[in-house]
Amino acid sequence: MERISHWIGGKVVPGESGRTGPVFNPATGEQTHEVDFATADEVGQVVAAAAEAFPAWRATSLSKRSDVMFQIRELLEDRKAALAAAITAQHGKVLSDAMGEVQRGLENVEFACGIPNLLKGGFTEQASTGVDVYSIRQPLGVVAGITPFNFPAMVPLWMLTNAIACGNTFVLKPSEKDPGASLVLAELLRDAGVPDGVFNVVHGDKVAVDAILDDPTIQAVSFVGSTPIAKYIYEHGTKAGKRVQALGGAKNHMIVLPDADLDMAADAAVSAGYGSAGERCMAISAIVAVGGIADDLVEKIADRLPKVKVGPGTDPEAEMGPLVTREHRDKVAGYLESSAEQGATIVRDGREDSRYGGDGFFLGVSLIDHVTGEMDAYRDEIFGPVLSVVRVDTYDEALKMVNDNPYGNGVAIFTRDGGAVRQFQFDVNVGMVGVNVPIPVPVAYYSFGGWKSSLFGDNHMYGPEGIQFYTRGKVVTARWPDPATSAVDLGFPRTR
Ligand code: NAD
Repeated sequence: MERISHWIGGKVVPGESGRTGPVFNPATGEQTHEVDFATADEVGQVVAAAAEAFPAWRATSLSKRSDVMFQIRELLEDRKAALAAAITAQHGKVLSDAMGEVQRGLENVEFACGIPNLLKGGFTEQASTGVDVYSIRQPLGVVAGITPFNFPAMVPLWMLTNAIACGNTFVLKPSEKDPGASLVLAELLRDAGVPDGVFNVVHGDKVAVDAILDDPTIQAVSFVGSTPIAKYIYEHGTKAGKRVQALGGAKNHMIVLPDADLDMAADAAVSAGYGSAGERCMAISAIVAVGGIADDLVEKIADRLPKVKVGPGTDPEAEMGPLVTREHRDKVAGYLESSAEQGATIVRDGREDSRYGGDGFFLGVSLIDHVTGEMDAYRDEIFGPVLSVVRVDTYDEALKMVNDNPYGNGVAIFTRDGGAVRQFQFDVNVGMVGVNVPIPVPVAYYSFGGWKSSLFGDNHMYGPEGIQFYTRGKVVTARWPDPATSAVDLGFPRTR
């Protein structure tokens, strides 16, 4: 069995803990690799490599760091297909979707290419007579990223590009379910001129995560994953004195108002509900049909479902691949069972797909109508190809449903009414809002983050808030010797 090992100080270092986890090809159900699980001591070695690399990297000029970012961009363009293939092999998403993931990651590199401009400080001349004041932002030191299975390249790129560009050194703890892409990235960064030790990868489970949270050298932790773990990371990390941004799970609603173009809404619902087999934190999970449009909308969505091609990610015809593990597939399928028991209508049952029950972890597209707020399918983040339709009478009911939901990652509203949209963006307690756009993932020069149980911490991820997160401010108040203005003054310093 091929092994996936740590990347420390610019090279692969096999783990010595004797603990490993299995990695599968979700399309075939075969175990293809085993991944090393680090001990706390091994995490310490990785952190030591990152700490050793920090002084020189932090002193490297902005123009050189920007140049390295441009090189990373070039290599990502050149190796896009190889990286996408590595994602598909262990995550299962179709190749076109994996290419999209790499592209969105690459946008973060492009943003970080502008690091000299992003780190520009402020300068006030003559704040007091002969005194100037200026602000600078400096890197934190060693920072860590802990990432989920569903974007094995993009989410690490959300974090590492800004972290490194700002002058920090980075320790990545990728998901143990699909860790392969992290090493493709590690080689690419090395080839782009990132010095050894500036980017490191440590594989593992809770043991490695806890060691990261406890390590006093690590200054900041970025996390993306499910809400219970995000909360744990935030509480544990901040208690240990670290800066933490922890992005959690989601339950994204798509409100369809009565005046919406229902064909456009149905296309969007299918694309955003089943893309990447629903394993996206910005996937649409619940359609909220307002007024008397639900029957028409459900019919239009159902009409489109037989055309969705389910198959292995390597099949160029396939639009939706398998789920990441057998356990996760079974858990998702369980919502079809519980929804029927709880009184919902199963319009399309993904368990009837011919691939379901085979060796691969497939589940076909599923549509559940007449879902209510009390049902498991509504209350839980399903994270699979299951779309629920909730019927409400008014905009106010739809808004209340979204605002009462504990998650607040993404939301979309479909309508032709500009006034309704304006009111909605004012009222809704969600961090990322789509107007006739079902998956409103902000471009790299804005920042990504939800509200409520979808994010713990102050800063959203990447973009300007990413730069804020990975640096700290310093303000210098300076006077240059001028004997003519020098005098003893024991009063509190004030401007003159
Ligand atoms: P997960 O929470 O199971 O795992 C995320 C990371 O935490 C992994 O690196 C994993 O090894 C680690 N981890 C798992 N259990 C742990 C424990 N008990 N203690 C310490 N660390 C632990 O999430 P996942 O299943 O990999 O990813 C899917 C989840 O991530 C979904 O809930 C999804 O909504 C969320 N997600 C959120 C965003 C966002 O931006 N808000 C983006 C992508 C995914």
